[in-house]
Amino acid sequence: MELPRSRRSAHSPLGRKSDSAHTHTPVADEKGSRLPVLLSSVLLLALGGTLLYTTSFSLNCGDQLEQSLSPSFESDSSAPTIRKVLDGGVLPTSHVLDELKLSDADNTLGGLLADLSEFDSNSCASRAQHLQRKTKFKPSQELVQRLRRYEAQHRKCASRAKDFGQPKSGSRVHDSEAPEEECRYVVWIAYSGLGNRLMTLVSAFLYALLTNRILLVDRSSDMSKLFCEPIPRTSWLVPSEITVEFVQGLNESSPQRFRHGSSTAGDNSSTAEFSYVHLTHTSDSGDEMFFCDSGQQQLDTKPWLFIKSNSYTVPGLFFITQFRADLSVLFPDKEAVFHLLGRYLFHPSDAVWGWITRFHKSYLAHHDQQVGIQIRTFDDSPLPYFLEQIQECVEQHELLPKVVKNVDSIRRSEELQLQNLQASEKDITVLVTSLHPYYYENLRDVYLSGPTEGGESVSVHQPSHEGWQKTNTFGHDLKAWADIYLLSLSDVLLTSGWSTFGYSAQALAGVSPWILPRSTDGQVPNPVCVKARSMEPCFHRPPLLKCKIPEGANPATILPYVQPCEDVKWGIKLITTPPTQRFFQVDDRHGLHASVRVTI
Ligand code: GDP
Repeated sequence: MELPRSRRSAHSPLGRKSDSAHTHTPVADEKGSRLPVLLSSVLLLALGGTLLYTTSFSLNCGDQLEQSLSPSFESDSSAPTIRKVLDGGVLPTSHVLDELKLSDADNTLGGLLADLSEFDSNSCASRAQHLQRKTKFKPSQELVQRLRRYEAQHRKCASRAKDFGQPKSGSRVHDSEAPEEECRYVVWIAYSGLGNRLMTLVSAFLYALLTNRILLVDRSSDMSKLFCEPIPRTSWLVPSEITVEFVQGLNESSPQRFRHGSSTAGDNSSTAEFSYVHLTHTSDSGDEMFFCDSGQQQLDTKPWLFIKSNSYTVPGLFFITQFRADLSVLFPDKEAVFHLLGRYLFHPSDAVWGWITRFHKSYLAHHDQQVGIQIRTFDDSPLPYFLEQIQECVEQHELLPKVVKNVDSIRRSEELQLQNLQASEKDITVLVTSLHPYYYENLRDVYLSGPTEGGESVSVHQPSHEGWQKTNTFGHDLKAWADIYLLSLSDVLLTSGWSTFGYSAQALAGVSPWILPRSTDGQVPNPVCVKARSMEPCFHRPPLLKCKIPEGANPATILPYVQPCEDVKWGIKLITTPPTQRFFQVDDRHGLHASVRVTI
């Protein structure tokens, strides 16, 4: 979602003054506190272990020392886990991070990525040192083959793209060894915040895979500074011959707009080779013909498509009959579309990677459980009801341990700790991301106010609090991308409804989050949170149903894996395991939405 770019107040009306010193940053602030620990660790080890540690102290010191000596992020394979929050297929936390080194056998994520040797060896540290959760979602053989084919085609066609608009337009490649092959293109136009961009890039890339086109990325934003090039030995950026002014100048009034203006009437001008596809919140029924077979037939005649969108249109692609069989083969797990294509496309640039790894190493590397909490308010100031919502959600669903509040119980708990009789030595890390520090500060205070009932230690961290959205400012976008990536390392996620920022993190993580619905009246909503049926993002603005499903048919029986979203009532999303019965009905204002008979 896009907020106005004007400067917004960063201060809370709740009187809790924002203080950047409270927010952990990956720079030097931890060094002062860490150094004595390291020195004492070394000293104690040098004394040959003659001193007696408490179990937890020795564990901590050992971790610190190991961390200081090793550039990789080793996790303790014997670490205990919290069973409750692992329900629902989340992998054991002690093995949570798939930290592959260059020497390890599979640095291709199960064939998803091309072999590292295909890439320029100095180009992208994040690709060589994945710091990702292990995932149960593997790419199908068909997807792997399609990606390799795509890469070859991209290499071939990217160099011809500069001929756009030339009399012969460069739409055909002549290769002496191969028969004449057509080059066709989808140009992704940068639009809206980073979460929206990740949504629309995955959507455009999947569309390119399905239509045998190559994806080119608008140069107008800071995408090239945030992400590594994903395709080996070529670039995904629009060639500089196609100017930023031209790409960014395409809009609703462009005569080439699909199903509008002269492009529908058969334009013979030099620009007739392209269509502009407008899939945003201002799209109309003409634009939405994109999701119809007849619309696709029309677009098929254009070698070049320029797409501007702020929606995750992937579920809509399943309505297009000609794509359906292909989609089923490529993605046997329907809910893994963004997860797999996102892991394929999005590798943090070295600048972002430095920020991510320094923060991770300092605050997140050593834990038994990482719980990510993402709060997007779409408001100038923090909304207090979200804090209550978080607290009630984690308590109701036992996602975080309870804090002992009674003074006698606190004393008793502390005595037990002193005697080393506490039941648990779990370390739980809570990563909070938000534009505001309010949630982080209050949650941290909760876990400092008393011991946890089971003796677990809970530390709360927030990498940044930017105050307001400043899309296209590199330092700001860097933090946004780092936040999304760090959230994606979580074992358990709480995300705020309606936010593509949260959708990106959950889908990259491979975790179905607990969604915190937005309040409509400023009160804590009931229920406070709902478990998402899949990790897939929600398509906020699905098209009208008419052209996709035969009149009178129940779409749930034809496309049982396209279901209503939990947070946006007229939105749709992909799930892997369909429920036994769901219904859709047509709504003239919003297109597809779940009927009242749907039980979510
Ligand atoms: P959406 O508006 O929630 O759907 O997500 P977008 O990512 O499209 O737009 C919101 C933008 O606001 C982000 O891209 C960031 O620029 C900024 N932003 C929102 N929440 C956060 C956050 O938790 N951390 C950081 N660093 N930036 C955020």
